[in-house]
Amino acid sequence: MRHVVVIGGGISGLAAALALVDDGVAVTLIESAPAVGGKLRISEVAGVPVDEGAEMFLRRVPEALDLVAAVGRADELVSPRTTAAEVWARGALRAMPAGTVMGLPGDAASLLGVLSADEVDRVRQDAELPGEPPGEDISVGGWVSARVGPAVTERLVDPLLGGVYAGRADELSLAATIPQLPRDERSLLAAVRRARPAAPSSEPVFATVTGGMGSLPASVAQAITRGGGTIMTGRTVRRLEATPTGWRVVHGATTDEQVLTADGVVVALPPSPAARLLADVAPAAAGELAAIDSASMAIVTTAWRTDDVPDLETSGYLVPAVYDRPVKAVTFASSKWAHVGSDDVVIVRCSIGRHGDVRDLQRDDADLIATATAELSTYAGFTGGPVDSRVSRWGGALPQYTVGHRERVRRIHAAVDALPGVAVCGATYDGVGVPACIRTGRAAAARVVAAMSPGPR
Ligand SMILES: Cc1cc2nc3c(=O)[nH]c(=O)nc-3n(C[C@H](O)[C@H](O)[C@H](O)COP(=O)(O)OP(=O)(O)OC[C@H]3O[C@@H](n4cnc5c(N)ncnc54)[C@H](O)[C@@H]3O)c2cc1C
Repeated sequence: MRHVVVIGGGISGLAAALALVDDGVAVTLIESAPAVGGKLRISEVAGVPVDEGAEMFLRRVPEALDLVAAVGRADELVSPRTTAAEVWARGALRAMPAGTVMGLPGDAASLLGVLSADEVDRVRQDAELPGEPPGEDISVGGWVSARVGPAVTERLVDPLLGGVYAGRADELSLAATIPQLPRDERSLLAAVRRARPAAPSSEPVFATVTGGMGSLPASVAQAITRGGGTIMTGRTVRRLEATPTGWRVVHGATTDEQVLTADGVVVALPPSPAARLLADVAPAAAGELAAIDSASMAIVTTAWRTDDVPDLETSGYLVPAVYDRPVKAVTFASSKWAHVGSDDVVIVRCSIGRHGDVRDLQRDDADLIATATAELSTYAGFTGGPVDSRVSRWGGALPQYTVGHRERVRRIHAAVDALPGVAVCGATYDGVGVPACIRTGRAAAARVVAAMSPGPR
């Protein structure tokens, strides 16, 4: 039977391993952490299970829905009670304008409030301003500021990209981070109107499972082992070596090295460990991977007595970087999800850390909790203090899709395709969201199976 080793047990590696098992391949998944899941992890705050990393997925694309169904948990799907959100702008919390695509507006009038009247007038100039369409690639911030003015970048686009990528609009690639936007339009407003759905849908955009996203990896792992696959945790893969008939995967501490032989290998790792692993066998791919920077961040989760919390009508708010506050996003988890919190306890997640700015992340946990508490007391009207708290640190968590990212990814795939039976997948390539990761995992599994067919090499 053909044997494939999947390296990395985040959602991408798990999706690849499950697809391989379903394809009748013998699979071993190796994960360096004590448990599988990567950025999907859950633990309790004030006795309430709360996600430490990803908390939801996009349900307008099928991949995550399919995976939840495949592991028998379709009946646990839940949608947020509200997705209404606010942004701190011009001295107050203001409703996020409707009809934007990653903060890019399709019309000017809806921006009044977040923008001043003069700034809204500047947005309207987009229709007449000369210029070229963005073409192959350009930075999101560069294009938005040139077309509709810097206020839109600062107060809408940058905070949203900061939420998804912990990145900065002036560095991130338009083609890679907002791929649905046509790049043949000179007018930004016209491009956004073309990218928006023709009619607003009443279907929920996001979902999770009631046990939390962090409970999903264990379900996928069970499905893999039920299908005959093997999962090894607490084992770091150190080297990949080509043999005349396949691959040797060397794992474990230097004092305890062990070797697995394989017909195929899926590398489901973030950019830095993937670069290290591929350095000897695919130096060109490793060089490209090493050039992808990642942003670090922390999620500070606090639990509050219900009496100390004002009425919360939204799912949370964003804080643009221009206001220089450590907390860049606040999620009122108990308002957003019916299953998070109780009558007595309200759960809030605060996100800290942006690409290129690790100053705040160097503070100790107590300091970060105090920072989150101060944000909620000063700007959201919370009183007293949290009854419980947790700091989840995510070092190098989110790959930065800078200008030219899609070309870089093409070069990585081309270099890896030259290695028989090897494929890469994960948040590094075609989207950091959970469905995109699952899609790359399945695609990597398919590539390896195709390369190994028919039968072992
Ligand atoms: C705080 C946070 C919140 C997020 N929120 C959302 C959200 O709400 N919705 C959404 O869709 N996305 C969200 N994301 C993004 C999404 O969670 C990630 O992009 C995705 O989970 C990444 O999955 P992955 O499998 O590609 O990588 P990872 O989860 O990073 O998995 C890689 C795995 O490889 C392991 N590993 C590393 N080196 C080795 C080695 N040498 N040998 C063996 N194993 C190794 C690691 O331990 C890790 O488990 C969030 C991300 C973060 C950080």
